[in-house]
Amino acid sequence: MRSNGIHHVTAIAGPARRNLDFYTRVLGLRLVKKTVNFDDPGTYHFYYGDEAGQPGTILTFFPWAHVAPGRLGSGETQETVFRVPEGAIGYWVQRFVEKGVPHQAVEQRFGETVLAFKDPDGMRLALVAVPGIGNEPGWAGGDVPAEHAIRGFHSVSLLLEDTAATGAILDDVLGFKEIGREGAMVRYRAGDTAIGGIVDLQAAGGALPSRPGAGSVHHIAFRAADDAAQAEMVKRLADNHRLITTEQKDRAYFRSVYFREPGRVLFEIATDIPGFAVDEPADTLGRALKLPRFLEPHRAEIERVLPDVA
Ligand code: ZN
Repeated sequence: MRSNGIHHVTAIAGPARRNLDFYTRVLGLRLVKKTVNFDDPGTYHFYYGDEAGQPGTILTFFPWAHVAPGRLGSGETQETVFRVPEGAIGYWVQRFVEKGVPHQAVEQRFGETVLAFKDPDGMRLALVAVPGIGNEPGWAGGDVPAEHAIRGFHSVSLLLEDTAATGAILDDVLGFKEIGREGAMVRYRAGDTAIGGIVDLQAAGGALPSRPGAGSVHHIAFRAADDAAQAEMVKRLADNHRLITTEQKDRAYFRSVYFREPGRVLFEIATDIPGFAVDEPADTLGRALKLPRFLEPHRAEIERVLPDVA
């Protein structure tokens, strides 16, 4: 079976402890992996997700204490959207009021009920009420009761000068099809993928280019079932779109290639395998600092420079 849809979203945050508090306590996500940025091992890499850390539920951050705020603009992800059960929006509005989380009035988009809000770095997020998902597993190990818990990603939206060029990549390579339009927004869906199955492309209309910083999405990763499926997508990118990816990088929990799509957003294609239980038991995910084998000899030094988040 093909697996398509969003695999994970990676963003840039300010102080690590504030990021950890917001996503695990306020949003009630599970910290499924505490590791470092493999390309910059003095920086944490936090992975938040559902109980099992399934593809399509994973939001990850590189927290840098002193990073300047980003400026939202074209060529960038605008909003990262989670699914919640249909009856949960009222709970979340009240929770955001109590916790002082900046949010907007509940609105309708594509016939769905949406609650937009921001994290402490100003990253734009939203919850969408989805009927019939109350029985899907959430994470009830945090402060949010299971009945209201987040059930993975609904979608991401990208702001682009030319939505057609990016749409062609979604359609021809990443397993998505256009399913609707509303205003300047074109919606793409990955078959019957329920979690992380939607990408919205919005025409920028002359917006300034983005400037990355705290609160910015760094890249969007799309799913490939395994290495063979990934290789096929890499070949289609080269043959049909003249886009050359990086070589495959081993990210321990998945294997990835990266490319900049025509709208300048950094895309990744990540394998579903091996997953987050490859180096620690599923029931204690995220508790210990995990390092890839090549960094293990430097553990003492790395632990010394990482900020204290305990
Ligand atoms: Zn990634």
